[in-house]
Amino acid sequence: MSTHDDLDSALPLGAELPEGARFIGPELGAMPAWVGDDHPSAEDLSSCVACGLCLPHCPTYRLTGEESASPRGRITAMRSVAEGTAVVDDTFAGFMDLCLVCRACEDVCPSHVPFGRMMERARAQVEPLRSRRARLLRWLGLDVTLAHPLLLRTAAFLQPIARPFLTPRMRALAPRRTSPFARLPAVTEPPAGVDVRGTVSILSGCVQDRWFHQVNLATIRVLSRNGWRVLVPREQRCCGALAAHNGRLRSARKLARRNAAAFAGADHVVVNAAGCGAHMQAYEELVEGASLPVRDLMAFLSDEGLAETPAHPLGDGRVGYHDACHALRAQGIQRQPRAVLREIPGLEIVDLANGDRCCGAAGLYNVLEPEMSGRLMREKAEAVRDAGVGVVASANPGCTMQIAAGLRELGVDVDVVHPVELLDRAYGSSP
Ligand code: SF4
Ligand code: SF4
Repeated sequence: MSTHDDLDSALPLGAELPEGARFIGPELGAMPAWVGDDHPSAEDLSSCVACGLCLPHCPTYRLTGEESASPRGRITAMRSVAEGTAVVDDTFAGFMDLCLVCRACEDVCPSHVPFGRMMERARAQVEPLRSRRARLLRWLGLDVTLAHPLLLRTAAFLQPIARPFLTPRMRALAPRRTSPFARLPAVTEPPAGVDVRGTVSILSGCVQDRWFHQVNLATIRVLSRNGWRVLVPREQRCCGALAAHNGRLRSARKLARRNAAAFAGADHVVVNAAGCGAHMQAYEELVEGASLPVRDLMAFLSDEGLAETPAHPLGDGRVGYHDACHALRAQGIQRQPRAVLREIPGLEIVDLANGDRCCGAAGLYNVLEPEMSGRLMREKAEAVRDAGVGVVASANPGCTMQIAAGLRELGVDVDVVHPVELLDRAYGSSP
């Protein structure tokens, strides 16, 4: 029987292999080629066992068949840099940039590889390589405009004037309706006669509040109608998801700190945008002590239960449901929004063909990688068209814009709305 002493004095595993042969792994004494502290950790990288089970679920691998466009290929590229056998260069940047960060791989991975976190950190390594112009635009958009409500209001105000100067892709995506001056009430009490169940604070969001303000209003009406006092903390800012996904972690950390302070003491931070919710649930990974009690709106309504059953049926009652990757994959939310919508009398949920596939929006991906994004957008729009519904529900502003643009391109007239808007209509609060 071996003792601890025997084990301590034993040769390292593989030391007796013939000369030149070695286990897969770093050369002894190899130095990682990362720059700075923001890079995928050795622990995260070593969690992948290269089994390949994630490959068929990865949209970019499905469409290209390239190992380098697969989760395993991307992790291999990261490992090569970590092991000092490759550097962060344009090829590495190309592999990382084509990823949607949809986290389909993470969802199906038996080793629970935290792919989203690794990708954000790998992109932080790529950021300094970008051209001066690209960095300037990212700084202006992600670090400055999204983080400053006044600049966002100005962007929303100027959008109709700037529309002719936008790229065709951006023009196709940008919703025509904007709300540059609208402001949500700081406090909304439940209506008279409704028992108060508690207090929630909501994230108003950056894009959500200026381009989908009506979704925030519906969110407040539905929550208060169900007995929740709704607070909208004035000090909150953009959640920082777009900055983090694009490797701008300094900016993402600043926003996380700001929001952690703005929402401090909240019983529940309710978020109606899947991407923002998924990102805020991981604040602690970005900034120690920034964790918040974040709940997805539709999951919250389902888990807490509706205090009032909606009474008004909607149209023909058939509604398509689009699962945003950051709800389905990152938060495991699928059943809850359907359960809530089924409370609407006569409503039938129509699941879309290949409904677990990404629509290709992925934050700024639809602008930065138009070809891949366009292919995924068409597939999703065709699935909606083939479902034969007049309405499709989507709980993420990026997906909503992408699917609406895809449907316009196909010439199909389908209304794309947030599920809470359907609930709000069924309560008779909005047309
Ligand atoms: S990421 Fe997970 S599923 Fe994919 S190859 Fe690695 S261990 Fe396997
Ligand atoms: S996040 Fe999505 S696109 Fe990126 S590797 Fe994973 S499955 Fe593929």
